[in-house]
Amino acid sequence: MNFTENYDMFLGEDHELLRKTVRDFAEKEVAPHIRDWDRSGAEAGEGPETRAHIRPILKRMGDLGLLGICVPAKYSGTGMDYLALAVVCEELERVDSALRVVMSVHTGLNSLSLLQWGSEEQKQQYLAPQASGQKLAAYCLTEPNSGTDAAAMQATARRDGDAYILNGEKTWISLADVADNFLVFAKTDLSKGHRGISCFIVERAFAGVNSHPIHGKLDPGQPGGERQVRSRAPDLRRADRRTPACQAHDQPHGAQARYQPPIGLPRRVDEEPGPP
Ligand SMILES: Cc1cc2nc3c(=O)[nH]c(=O)nc-3n(C[C@H](O)[C@H](O)[C@H](O)COP(=O)(O)OP(=O)(O)OC[C@H]3O[C@@H](n4cnc5c(N)ncnc54)[C@H](O)[C@@H]3O)c2cc1C
Repeated sequence: MNFTENYDMFLGEDHELLRKTVRDFAEKEVAPHIRDWDRSGAEAGEGPETRAHIRPILKRMGDLGLLGICVPAKYSGTGMDYLALAVVCEELERVDSALRVVMSVHTGLNSLSLLQWGSEEQKQQYLAPQASGQKLAAYCLTEPNSGTDAAAMQATARRDGDAYILNGEKTWISLADVADNFLVFAKTDLSKGHRGISCFIVERAFAGVNSHPIHGKLDPGQPGGERQVRSRAPDLRRADRRTPACQAHDQPHGAQARYQPPIGLPRRVDEEPGPP
């Protein structure tokens, strides 16, 4: 079967309506502003983020239901399927690759991880406002010295009574300059390699969380550089950050769950040794 030719057989009327909605939105509300938005990013100096358009445009996408596209309605999502997410990605990518990236991070990496692995309480507290676009979310895996080999990460999380102390630095984090909530990966057991990594929900409001933009990642003078500079992914810095133990993902044994970093399909690794 030629999958490309038969692609439409998988799409229903709802998908087509969605495609039209996203295409209209992208062409009318995104395309005319791309150059200005790009320049505002390139001209931003050190210090607080100046990309003033990011939160309003994502809020608008939240109002359209795009940020919670695969999230069930009980968590303020649209409750559609993964094909719908693909349609949204295609239509955004067609107009603005940078906006598609931040939507994927907010929705795909953060919210869908929370949907799969979070406790009911965490879903109510974090997922619902993210699905509606009230709160923006980032996903913090990459570090200055670990990318593809995520197990080489150096960030640590140390149990301290009813809290964890997170200590480390992340980089290339999309939306780090504006996000309210972060999923942060850190090592809780250095002796266990990738099995000793846990994921924590961190709010920007927590003391000790810092972020700053990276400018000039690519030379704007190079072909294609201008668009990519705008998708800046700043560092997220935190030093001795206390995060309550209850905010570790899920708690099958009252403390925390351990995960493979959700690259591709996340696989849960229980805290207690069990059958493979
Ligand atoms: C625009 C943008 C946004 C991003 N947003 C986020 C974000 O929101 N959150 C986040 O956590 N990270 C983010 N990242 C980081 C991204 O996920 C990392 O760049 C990625 O994990 C690769 O890591 P690296 O750049 O260190 O490359 P490296 O790991 O150094 O890899 C460099 C090259 O070597 C190849 N390679 C690596 N190891 C092997 C091997 N063993 N065998 C063969 N080939 C190998 C890789 O495929 C790649 O081509 C973002 C990056 C960009 C560019």
